[in-house]
Amino acid sequence: MIAYGQHNYYIQTQQTEVNPAPGSGTVVRSCRDLGMIFLESEGNVTAARITAPDETLVAQLREKAISLGASYFGVADLTPAKTFVTDQGGDFLSEYPVAISLGVALVDGVVDQLYQHHNNIVARTYQHHIYSAVGGHLDRMAEGLAFTLEGSGYRAIPVPSSGYYDDVRRRGLISHKLVANFAGHGWIGKNCLLITKAHGPRVRWVTILTDAPLKYAGGAPAIVDRCKNCNLCVDLCPVQAFTGIKFNPEDPVEVRFDTRKCQQYLRRREKTHGASVCGICVHVCPHGWSMKRKKNARQTTAKLLHERLDGMVNATPDGT
Ligand code: SF4
Ligand code: SF4
Repeated sequence: MIAYGQHNYYIQTQQTEVNPAPGSGTVVRSCRDLGMIFLESEGNVTAARITAPDETLVAQLREKAISLGASYFGVADLTPAKTFVTDQGGDFLSEYPVAISLGVALVDGVVDQLYQHHNNIVARTYQHHIYSAVGGHLDRMAEGLAFTLEGSGYRAIPVPSSGYYDDVRRRGLISHKLVANFAGHGWIGKNCLLITKAHGPRVRWVTILTDAPLKYAGGAPAIVDRCKNCNLCVDLCPVQAFTGIKFNPEDPVEVRFDTRKCQQYLRRREKTHGASVCGICVHVCPHGWSMKRKKNARQTTAKLLHERLDGMVNATPDGT
């Protein structure tokens, strides 16, 4: 970083990718239109690329994200998660040290109906909402921010908001939930979803990876676990896919979540009801209940608990 005029600038020299060391030289000339400055040090003049001050660019990106409809915007330092990111997305992604996390809150009217997810119309409405409507919206916003970053001279990758890239482990390119956690949006709940204070798990996420020197908004663990003694998602999952063990970044996901049980259940739902939808673990989380809907949410959750108890009496192995 170098002071120039009233601002501090990050600089990229021709020799190194990022050279944030102060005192790299005295600015002898600038070509702001070309984004170049010339530094003199011990009689040598070197050219360096100037980039936007990080806070200015963050403010610009935040403003753009909100104007496009994002409910959440945050910046995460992915350096501590490099091994995890490499394991999931490969070197191709892990070379990016910074991530922007965007979230869009789901429409309560859609999520509130999920206690009756066996109903075909409820299931299809939710499926369209999360994948086509909100998912498409997230991807378009991510592309918009990636263009802004590229226009400022940085590299950027908008990671698709959904879809599997690892058929064996059934994972996407990156864990958007982990990035959201690192960006300070919430904690990882017992349902393995990112839980926010304002909307609980009723948010979908997307990630933009970049090499821009953005100011971080948080750092893991960004918000402490607030599941406490609640166990609703664990008790009400139709196939008992969750173990109830709290999130620990050292543990593999299998310690908390049997993804095969969930996937098998969703596949059966697709065959029988035409939509691979459940969403009970999103619906029942009390952190997603707004004050005005709390009474209704308690009633639908109590109904599910009764059904669950009935189901335990007449148990079937697959939860259908
Ligand atoms: S979507 Fe349904 S089956 Fe899958 S983990 Fe959540 S509650 Fe369980
Ligand atoms: S339902 Fe309860 S245990 Fe599950 S994520 Fe929400 S607060 Fe945590």
